[in-house]
Amino acid sequence: MRTGTGTNQEAVRRHNLGTLLRHVHDSGEVSRAELTGRMGLNRSTIAALVTELETLGLIEHASPAAGRRSAGRPSAGVRIREDGPYVVAVDLGVDHAVVARVGLGGRIWHRAAAPIPPDPEAWLAGSTIATLVRQVVSLSPADAPLLGIGIAVPGLVRRSDGLIRHAPNLGWHDVSFGSIVLAALALDVPIALGNDADLGALAEHRRGAAVGIDDLVYLSGNVGVGAGVIIGGNRLEGVAGYAGEVGHLHHDPRGGPCHCGSRGCWETVVGAPAIAEALRCPADQVARLGEILDAMTTAPRELRPIAADLGRGLGAVVNIFNPSVVILGGYFLPLFRLCRSEVTAGLGERALVPARESVRLCLPGLGNDSVLLGAAEMAMEPVFVDPVASLADAITDAPARLAG
Ligand SMILES: [Zn+2]
Repeated sequence: MRTGTGTNQEAVRRHNLGTLLRHVHDSGEVSRAELTGRMGLNRSTIAALVTELETLGLIEHASPAAGRRSAGRPSAGVRIREDGPYVVAVDLGVDHAVVARVGLGGRIWHRAAAPIPPDPEAWLAGSTIATLVRQVVSLSPADAPLLGIGIAVPGLVRRSDGLIRHAPNLGWHDVSFGSIVLAALALDVPIALGNDADLGALAEHRRGAAVGIDDLVYLSGNVGVGAGVIIGGNRLEGVAGYAGEVGHLHHDPRGGPCHCGSRGCWETVVGAPAIAEALRCPADQVARLGEILDAMTTAPRELRPIAADLGRGLGAVVNIFNPSVVILGGYFLPLFRLCRSEVTAGLGERALVPARESVRLCLPGLGNDSVLLGAAEMAMEPVFVDPVASLADAITDAPARLAG
């Protein structure tokens, strides 16, 4: 790495550019006065950074919103340019995938979905994702930069290189899925992969039910069960990125076998196969459990003991992490809506009183899009570190390249 005053100043300037852009991304429209206060920089420095981000095509002027004018001269605001850079986010489920074009600021512009065929080699899945990516990119402005692709995976993803080490419900071991998708697209663009629950937590923290809350757990029900944990504002990842596999907490000493090789894991009781069996759903409907529960207006009797076990397991989660919020995502969203009192009672049985007193169970602020938007946030991360470098890596003619 080069050193020297000039390079350091350049690094600081790029860092400030990224930080200012993140403020606009997080807040939507924001005034220069607010940016001056939040970043602790003087007005002329903020003005210069704003001008450069405008020149880069990332933000634009906005007249102050009527309700936000304070006494005195209103401060000119800035906002994300709607025809500016975007990412493609992929929520890879167990039997289907959702792909969206997401702009800076978190707006979903277009989305497409398709079934994912069973495929231990992952090539068919890669080809399906590539088709969906082409669909959403074809609708983007012709010269808007594609910054990158983010993929949420229901499994263990190695942080260092994005390798899918194990996605049990897809039957995948050590799959370099990022390379497979890029090969299917014949495109060289930054691509990042992450665990679905981790990304759900990230999105809910940034723009969902946990904005301003720095200790939270996002529980994901996506056939299997996992958690994304944020403690003190930082993602809890573990040494390789595998932290949060709460589905394999020991739950029932007399419980049945788990795919992990153990017995009586929490997932064997509250995982989608167990719930589907209790509801007598056909095996091929397991991955659709969220939709099945969503269509119910009252909870069937069989669901109530499962909801209590959901709460009991959450008791262990609350005892370990002491979060202020637990967000129930995936099929736990409709399950919690149907059986709130049973879940709460189960939690009460197992959580220590002081930890229980400070926790709130809630539904995702982003509904079914938490994981998808978390994948988008992951793909956007480099532009908030160094917008100049990120734009240099972006593809500016993606619709034409992908159509050919
Ligand atoms: Zn297990």
